[in-house]
Amino acid sequence: MKITKLTTYRLPPRWMFLKIETDEGVVGWGEPVIEGRAKSVEAAVHELSEYLIGQDPARINDLWQVMYRGGFYRGGPILMSAIAGIDQALWDIKGKVLGVPVWQLLGGLVRDSIKAYSWVGGDRPAEVIDGIKKLREIGFDTFKLNGCEEMGIIDSSRKVDAAVNTVAQIREAFGNEIEFGLDFHGRVSAPMAKILIKELEPYRPLFIEEPVLAEQAEYYPRLAAQTHLPIAAGERMYSRFEFKRVLEAGGLAILQPDLSHAGGITECFKIAAMAEAYDVALAPHCPLGPIALASCLHVDFVSRNAVFQEQSMGIHYNKGAELLDYVVNKEDFNMKGGHFAPLNKPGLGVEINEQLVIERSQQVQDWRNPLWRFPDGSVAEW
Ligand SMILES: [Mg+2]
Repeated sequence: MKITKLTTYRLPPRWMFLKIETDEGVVGWGEPVIEGRAKSVEAAVHELSEYLIGQDPARINDLWQVMYRGGFYRGGPILMSAIAGIDQALWDIKGKVLGVPVWQLLGGLVRDSIKAYSWVGGDRPAEVIDGIKKLREIGFDTFKLNGCEEMGIIDSSRKVDAAVNTVAQIREAFGNEIEFGLDFHGRVSAPMAKILIKELEPYRPLFIEEPVLAEQAEYYPRLAAQTHLPIAAGERMYSRFEFKRVLEAGGLAILQPDLSHAGGITECFKIAAMAEAYDVALAPHCPLGPIALASCLHVDFVSRNAVFQEQSMGIHYNKGAELLDYVVNKEDFNMKGGHFAPLNKPGLGVEINEQLVIERSQQVQDWRNPLWRFPDGSVAEW
């Protein structure tokens, strides 16, 4: 079997799907994208295709190494996301050829279901509480919300109070019936992260995510030393070589590699195993589409240290399309009591509505993340 063609589709809300075709008619789908830089990743996918056309799609390990090491320069969000989506599509092909789901190829299930959590949007406490109430009705008991708005390197006690007040009201409204993680989104600098974490501790968030940016990762062990709250990070780390450094330095309790950014299933399976060796939990990052989510689930179901799975149903970024719009077998993603079941169809287990993908790709607009500024005009992290 040989790879014959790679086709990319940029799609609403901010996704990109990749279709890899073979000379025997088996087709694989992947989701290579960096949110806000889809065209850059698209160019990288097509540049990498010269290593792939004419090759045997079954040799995933070798093709991965060629794409990673073959260019001398490697790593980073663009290249690793391109490799990630290609890798997902190759696993999809392998599973379809062999007639088994990807989790079967990775050694088989370690669990029967995996807990999912849901984002809750809203700027005011009342909106957040309302959002949680609605999500509880469909079975979720675990949530994630932004920990604060933009935050200066040194900021006011008013900003801290606003963040704490939201969280206090959520705990008061629901007690211990729900759990929630707080995502600082890399928008907080180390001096304020120290203060915020301390002030938020009494409300027992499940974890604090990206308390500072990945490029300030040396703060993770220092922040961890001052709090008992689990610290999570990893959505902006792109290979096991980056994860190696944070695991070695200590401090993170939860790793959040993104299956569409960190080299795909091949790489994240290894990252998960590295995390297990350090007694660190796995919670793959996934605010993306159905192929990315399926890839996460296959790794979750073979990784003992996987604890919960992010997913983008109803997430505030999904403007113009919802998680399962392009999926034919929507029922396979049905959750029971806030848990996903293994995807049992061959390959990734996502049947793509290709006609709709082609249609919607023709009217796509480039998604960009908001650019925030402080009142003095300087750029704030979003
Ligand atoms: Mg995050």
